[in-house]
Amino acid sequence: MRYYYPDYFDSFKCIGGMECPDSCCHIWQITVDKKTLKKYNRVKGQLGSRMRKKIDKKTGNIEPHGEENRCEFLNDNNLCDIVLELGEDYLCHTCHTHPRHEEVYHNVRERSLAITCPIVCKELLLREEPVIIKLKEDNKKDMFDKYFDAPLYEQLLYIRNSMLNVVQDRQIDIFKRMVLILGMAHDIERRIIKRKSRKHNSFINKIIPFYPEFLLKEKEEIDKIVSAYSNVSVYSQITLHMIDEVASFTIKKLFTDMIFTLCTMEALKNTWIPYLQSIINIRSQMDDKEYESCQIEFSKQITSTQLEQLLFYFVYLYGCTATYDGFFLAKIKMAVTNTLIIRELWFMKWLEDNKTLSTDAKAEMAHWFVREVENSDENLEQWDSLMQRNSRFSLEILIKICSYLAR
Ligand code: SF4
Repeated sequence: MRYYYPDYFDSFKCIGGMECPDSCCHIWQITVDKKTLKKYNRVKGQLGSRMRKKIDKKTGNIEPHGEENRCEFLNDNNLCDIVLELGEDYLCHTCHTHPRHEEVYHNVRERSLAITCPIVCKELLLREEPVIIKLKEDNKKDMFDKYFDAPLYEQLLYIRNSMLNVVQDRQIDIFKRMVLILGMAHDIERRIIKRKSRKHNSFINKIIPFYPEFLLKEKEEIDKIVSAYSNVSVYSQITLHMIDEVASFTIKKLFTDMIFTLCTMEALKNTWIPYLQSIINIRSQMDDKEYESCQIEFSKQITSTQLEQLLFYFVYLYGCTATYDGFFLAKIKMAVTNTLIIRELWFMKWLEDNKTLSTDAKAEMAHWFVREVENSDENLEQWDSLMQRNSRFSLEILIKICSYLAR
């Protein structure tokens, strides 16, 4: 088994309790795994009967309560009653590992620390040096999986790692780096589609899927794309052919449309949609000239390193998930869009707080947005499909925004 993980993965320590600005034990549905559920069934006393009453026997779902959908076992001091009474060994798999996340591929695990945790998010934003992805191997093996497209995963791994090098190329403006990886993803996806059309459609392959290796010619094409988009000179070619000069009122509208789309998704925290609506109201009252001059002022206040850390995090997390559906461009659009939206949320917060913005405030906005999108399977699926189909997230629009911000 191969394990990939960012170099800061093992250093995380949960601070928990009242110290944590936004405990992870509320807002989302926590499901107890079967093994732990059996253990809970043997717990005696008051805690045991609470467990049997509040945890669904079939699904393992813990019934949340209160306005904030708090976990039943999270007490008023924001500490877990299960840990206090029985110790950490009694935590279910989700609670034991969170915010450690594992993307599962055949014989490969890609590990990350979810920035849905405000502490992880803040530590990432405070980090100056580029993140390194490490590799560890052992002799474990998964059972054979006939549905896993191994040749595609290995290609995507190579492409994603090359893309991460572009993301960390500090010689290039951060928004230009975004355009380069979008262009790379667009051209690569075409090669993935071309290879898919070579798949055998015979009767036997309908029962046993067949995933052909990439041809040498296809690998050479991919190499050429990767190396072309690793060079900043491509940026001017892309923007020259794709867009005219972009006005600030267009950018203001494009961002407002994106924020509006977020309002149509399931809200995990009941203050999320009212907050987004208040932002939309402020933006609608804002003069276009004022928006532009504030954007210029704001650009000088934030460092591209923080945007790079976010972009790196999202590209690493989403890139190879295209193994399962082939929609590689949508995954990279999602990474770029998330980073741009977080930046725009920071911009609005900076305006709201009289042009000040602390790292704590940045972490608060970033982790909140990511929690809303990633902690709901329904939202994550919808977000992915919006990237595939919705014109508000088209390649042209994303490039327009990036080229405006790169000026
Ligand atoms: S959000 Fe992070 S620091 Fe807070 S309780 Fe959860 S894992 Fe711990």
